[in-house]
Amino acid sequence: MTCPTQPTASHFINGAYIEDTAGAPIEVIYPATGETIATVHAATPALIEQAIAGARAAQPTWAAMTGTERGRILRRAADILRERNHELSVLETYDTGKPYQETSVADATSGADALEYFGGMAATLTGEHIQLGEDWVYTRREPLGLCVGIGAWNYPIQIACWKGAPALACGNTMIFKPSETTPLCALKVAEILHEAGLPAGVFNVLQGLGEVGAALVTDPRVDKVSLTGSVPTGRKVYAAAAQGMKHVTMELGGKSPLIIFDDADIENAVSGAILGNFYSSGQVCSNGTRVFVHKAIKEAFLDRLGARLSSAVIGDPMDPNTSFGPMVSERQMTIVLDYIEKGKAECARLVCGGARLDREGFYIPPTVFADVTDDMVIAREEIFGPVMAVLDFEDEADVMARANDTEFGLAAGVFTRDLARAHRVAAGFEAGACFINSYNDAPVEAPFGGVKASGVGRENSKAAVEHYSQVKSVYVRMGDLEAPF
Ligand code: NDP
Repeated sequence: MTCPTQPTASHFINGAYIEDTAGAPIEVIYPATGETIATVHAATPALIEQAIAGARAAQPTWAAMTGTERGRILRRAADILRERNHELSVLETYDTGKPYQETSVADATSGADALEYFGGMAATLTGEHIQLGEDWVYTRREPLGLCVGIGAWNYPIQIACWKGAPALACGNTMIFKPSETTPLCALKVAEILHEAGLPAGVFNVLQGLGEVGAALVTDPRVDKVSLTGSVPTGRKVYAAAAQGMKHVTMELGGKSPLIIFDDADIENAVSGAILGNFYSSGQVCSNGTRVFVHKAIKEAFLDRLGARLSSAVIGDPMDPNTSFGPMVSERQMTIVLDYIEKGKAECARLVCGGARLDREGFYIPPTVFADVTDDMVIAREEIFGPVMAVLDFEDEADVMARANDTEFGLAAGVFTRDLARAHRVAAGFEAGACFINSYNDAPVEAPFGGVKASGVGRENSKAAVEHYSQVKSVYVRMGDLEAPF
């Protein structure tokens, strides 16, 4: 079995696809059937060297182009992504197992948004003028140099674009290493950027396991590392980058709270809980997996949730009617099933789901545990699968303290009709991305990123520019300079 739209080789370096079968083979598995759809090869040391040398050599010329010229290429690439949305969505579905119903509206499209947004911004990046009497200072916004992007497997096109677009807009070059689980899509992003006119060496893709990422992170010619991944990997990568005093962006995991007050619109709150737990089969970093529901509405909420979940269409991800697909891999399925067993052993009330589906592929249905308490493992650890924990509360101050009692701080949401309470709660959340009467919206215009163990830095929005550029100040003296001797 092969995907009709897949790339022609494992790596994209210096403007061209390149293969080196000496690298360890990595099988690409279609999660809906367990079949192998492609084999890529990990980058060898020679290819890593070629990519780093090429990206370094290309950077000064790329940075010397005007922002308007750089931006035009990124915006052209955004247009191509949109024109090829169907074939890219098919590839993303084969790579990740996510339903085409999702990939066709959320993946290449959000990647295109990032290329368009940062392409538009490239020409607006400037320094400032600071008058100091008759002297003055001006600042120059300069690129960092060579950036490394390392991706997780849940949104391969989006992650490549969320990292690549701001990096390139600011005049950097990038080497992107996708997750070994979903290696195909980022290659298409590189291909399209070059079709749009990107000079060779500016955006490169190398495959490999963590060790290829580690080789890139520790290379002294790399100036910045942007990782999307788990907290344990984040700790390792951050520590390795610190040895070289490199810039970092860390987009890591979460165990985010979603608080539903008794005055909330229940249908909207159920929608928020579904979007925040079961979209992409629950494999979303910002998911609101600790759902705190006011005691007065808990059973009504669970009833409506159960009814709505029973209409999920679980099946062939390529069928446009399918709204819920498999886990990305057998490994991830095993991890999630293990957490489900822990939830049962801890005596949480299983409301629905709770076992692997009896069919080929890595399917776990939407699973809801109620009567979960704060100390249970399923309420404390990131599961990264379709498992919702419903917890009770009665008092606002109490639920806020419990919501914030976690090492993570990626996202948080609140459903209430009380405006003052909504803003008070949002202000009180220890989280980077908050939602009022909504969940998991991530427009490119809004900053995205975590606090506490969930990360460092922000992606998207104007804030990302701060993480892909640096400011140089130049003091200009207009008169004579006095010295003590
Ligand atoms: P991992 O942390 O396992 O891997 C992330 C990436 O890091 C992979 O490409 C991996 O390569 C690479 N890697 C692993 N070890 C090293 C190392 N020592 N040095 C350099 N690179 C390394 O995460 P998953 O892929 O399993 O993704 C799931 C996690 O990502 C969840 O915790 C989720 O919350 C988080 N995530 C965060 C997001 C955010 O924006 N905050 C968005 C999406 C996911 P390989 O896989 O090839 O070993």
